[in-house]
Amino acid sequence: MELYRSNKIYTSFNRLIATLNVSLQVVLIYFIWDIHIGIVMQIAAFILAFMFTDFLNGLVHMIMDHKESYDSFYGPLVANFHLHHQTPKYTKHALPIVYFNETGAKIWLVPFLMLILFFLTNNSFTPFVLHTLVYIGILSSIAEVSHYLCHTSDSKMAHFLARIGILLSREHHNPHHEADNMNYAFLNGMSDPLINLIARTFFTGYKTTTDQHYIKYASGAGADQR
Ligand SMILES: [Zn+2]
Ligand SMILES: [Zn+2]
Repeated sequence: MELYRSNKIYTSFNRLIATLNVSLQVVLIYFIWDIHIGIVMQIAAFILAFMFTDFLNGLVHMIMDHKESYDSFYGPLVANFHLHHQTPKYTKHALPIVYFNETGAKIWLVPFLMLILFFLTNNSFTPFVLHTLVYIGILSSIAEVSHYLCHTSDSKMAHFLARIGILLSREHHNPHHEADNMNYAFLNGMSDPLINLIARTFFTGYKTTTDQHYIKYASGAGADQR
């Protein structure tokens, strides 16, 4: 963890990832813009993408919460990620800044967006599937904004959107921080019943594993820990 704080490479790396992700998203919108599927199919693609994004991002979150490879070259990034259970305090920023900053932590999204771009430029799938994939690519960043709003926002609009189930609500998300091995999804949390089932079957939870790393770090005993 110390390495993450002291070595500028890791913070610059986050900015590089954010720039790549946002640029790829812009390019995807540029290419999809001229492929028309009609408003009804557009809405269907969006709803499908919304459900899948919640599931996919929750799944990646679950895997990341269990990674203990602190000694690898990407270890400091993993250690920094694990702080989110105890210190979900975001610095308040305008939402576009939050979108950019948080997208910088999504390393897996870079190859994922590249793959969508490949499919899109090669017409590998039907226009409906291509639209759904582009929505997934963008909603994956919006999910980070939803998590930010869930933790920090006092805005009536954000609370309303959370209450009607479009964004992540505090009631639904708090057990992820307070309990163990549950509610990993963070776009709106709709896929948590399925993810919780997978978590219970295949994963041990983070309270007795990766969260212990943070406790050591916070107590100072792990000052030299990554
Ligand atoms: Zn977590
Ligand atoms: Zn959270």
